Amino acid sequence: MASQLFEGQEFRSDQRGSVARVLLERKRDCLLDYAVPERLVKQIEVGAHVRVPLRRAETTGWVISFPARPAVEGLRELSAISSEPFHLSATLLHLAEWVAGYYCAPLAATLACILPAPVRRARTQEQLLVACLPGWEEAAVDRLGCSPREKRAWARLRELGPSWLTELCASTGTGPQIWKKLVERGLVELRKAQRARHPLGSLPPGPGELPVLTEDQAGAFEAVRTAIRQNGFSPFLLFGVTGSGKTEVYLRSVGEALSQGRSALVLVPEIALTPQLVEQVQSRFGDRPGKVALWHSRLSAGERHDQWRDIVCGRARVVVGARSAVFAPLRGLGLIVVDEEHESAYKQGETPRYHARDVAVMRARREGIPVLLGSACPSLESYANALAGKYRLLELRVRVEDRPLPLVRIVDLRRRAKKSRAVVGASSPERPWLSPELQEELAKRLALREQAILYVNRRGYARVLQCSDCGAVKECPHCSVALTYHRAGENLRCHFCGHSEPFPTACSACPGGRFDALGTGTERIVESVEAAFPSAKVLRMDSDSMAKKGALPDALRAFAERRFDILVGTQMVAKGLHFPRVTLVGVVQIDGLLHMPDFRSAERAFQQLLQVAGRSGRGETRGVVYVQTRCPVHPAIQFARHHDYRGFAEQDLDFRTSFGYPPATRLLLLIWKSRSDELCRRAAESEAGEIRRRLDGLAEGGEILPAPILRLQGAFRYQLLLKTNRMVEASRVLKRWTETRTRRTEVDLVVDVDPVEF
Ligand code: ADP
Ligand code: ZN
Repeated sequence: MASQLFEGQEFRSDQRGSVARVLLERKRDCLLDYAVPERLVKQIEVGAHVRVPLRRAETTGWVISFPARPAVEGLRELSAISSEPFHLSATLLHLAEWVAGYYCAPLAATLACILPAPVRRARTQEQLLVACLPGWEEAAVDRLGCSPREKRAWARLRELGPSWLTELCASTGTGPQIWKKLVERGLVELRKAQRARHPLGSLPPGPGELPVLTEDQAGAFEAVRTAIRQNGFSPFLLFGVTGSGKTEVYLRSVGEALSQGRSALVLVPEIALTPQLVEQVQSRFGDRPGKVALWHSRLSAGERHDQWRDIVCGRARVVVGARSAVFAPLRGLGLIVVDEEHESAYKQGETPRYHARDVAVMRARREGIPVLLGSACPSLESYANALAGKYRLLELRVRVEDRPLPLVRIVDLRRRAKKSRAVVGASSPERPWLSPELQEELAKRLALREQAILYVNRRGYARVLQCSDCGAVKECPHCSVALTYHRAGENLRCHFCGHSEPFPTACSACPGGRFDALGTGTERIVESVEAAFPSAKVLRMDSDSMAKKGALPDALRAFAERRFDILVGTQMVAKGLHFPRVTLVGVVQIDGLLHMPDFRSAERAFQQLLQVAGRSGRGETRGVVYVQTRCPVHPAIQFARHHDYRGFAEQDLDFRTSFGYPPATRLLLLIWKSRSDELCRRAAESEAGEIRRRLDGLAEGGEILPAPILRLQGAFRYQLLLKTNRMVEASRVLKRWTETRTRRTEVDLVVDVDPVEF
């Protein structure tokens, strides 16, 4: 029955009926028909959240359609419509259906991702609210014989209006007894009320005056403004070099949507990493609590519960959020902004494996509104769409106030390696991680009281720990990767599954007990920097040091206030940060990104370079960037050196076209997983035959191959990569097949449409 879901003729969404087809809340799709009781016929709509009987119990689900004829006779009656606002609009439901269809996922799993069960089950908190009772004048209060403190408290509350007891006590320096006393006197009432959590609170509004737009900004904003006013689907790609002021274009566009009485959605790749943008949106539009809502999976279920209610009822007019916010139930949506549209964090790593940028474009199309994708180095998919005229390209070619882009210098480490071997011997090159050029530049910047950022593509201290005697490398017991050595904590950790073990006392392969720490990570670079510049204040920023809630905003503030001179970090330091005093960016290590077994490796490295380079020279002084590498001629490095996005894009697009990679084609990745290597390989081979037969003419496939990391979290993985130009049909066929596929408990199959990780 589930497969009928996506065949248009089954839908009668605009109608109500006496039979409702309900998608039950299950892992897999299960649709049942129920009779709609007379009393509910007028209220029930497609997307309604309902309670239905199932065997001897009750469960919940969503009304998907009103079939003209029930699937079976003798239907049971639907019990009730949810009283909570968990109904999905028809637009949202149909968007979810598209996601489920395109990404080969159960619709139930997609709806669970839009509105997770724990979020629905959470309750809005109740707190004590204090309010003055009407009908009292000062003179009358005087006659009651209140103490002066009581009277002051009462007068203050009259000014403030109804207030939450906890905050009232804090702001007036009173204790709860005084309010209880006022209740006894009949002047004040104290009652429990629902208090929605607003994770953003209300920041003070930002500087009132808006900057005068640069010419490019004005042009881009004008195009978006016209589109917002005209109403209708129009996708834009805002390609603006780092520091060109893309954020201001987003903010003006959001303001325009609001002034037209519409709402707006702003997507960011990872909310925790972009506190600056969230703050800007909040300070520009958050003039009353709840107007700007936040949505991402790190909020508690209770917070999301309250945010959902705020959004549905229209109290929230702007939603800022990560990936899953693309489904935020905003009404009257007038604009979607996707910041850093090239980021792979927009792709979800579990079912439904959707790409939020692509879903945003699809949502905008269905809602008939503009969508603004922004980046300093657009994904080649989006750029190709712009070249083909599917997206309108808006360019911000120069930095605000005509600040120049930083000068990029390449430091060729190959020479260095040879020299240091010849001169100092293999074992003890001093601080080999920072080249003399980079050190010299750091010294210069420190002397000028400027700041520097050093980028390293790995956290921890060393990439691997190797036995000095036999050369054995410590591997993760669950994954086929080497463990990373972390000095903070003196342990070895797997960056794929989270496994951690103490620093070994002995080698597991030989009697030796000495180890070499090979390669580097953020911790080791901090150590090198501190050794070279003992008086400099160095701040480390990676997911280890920033794990605590609030650590990142605190660290960013500390760096902005110049309590630190040098910031050492992973990609966390490359994204969206704006520090005008930073004039030097050192790319300590990037080579690892150049040679990943992935056709996007050059693109990723190039994006990373451009992004991190863009942190330099955002203030009055021109910045420089030092890139240390052993592959100075790699195109990603050469094009980044000249800030030449177009050059890079053209060359890489040529390569993609010649080898049949996206955006020239689309990819479909099937991954079989099992605890048994043998079972996994055999299942993959036998099922691949069946899949190829079914997709004959729709997709072309290679061979079953072991995944680049064969074993991950204890599961062996084999994969099949298919190429297609007819993804919609191919995924429909595949979805049907997966639904009927005999489930094997010992081998899992994952279908990844438009994969971004291999
Ligand atoms: P991008 O995201 O394109 O790298 P930002 O949006 O972070 O750039 O803008 C860089 C800086 O320039 C920010 O401090 C921003 O406040 C400022 N800015 C943006 N537009 C203008 C403008 N028109 N005039 C002056 N300053 C601006
Ligand atoms: Zn592991």
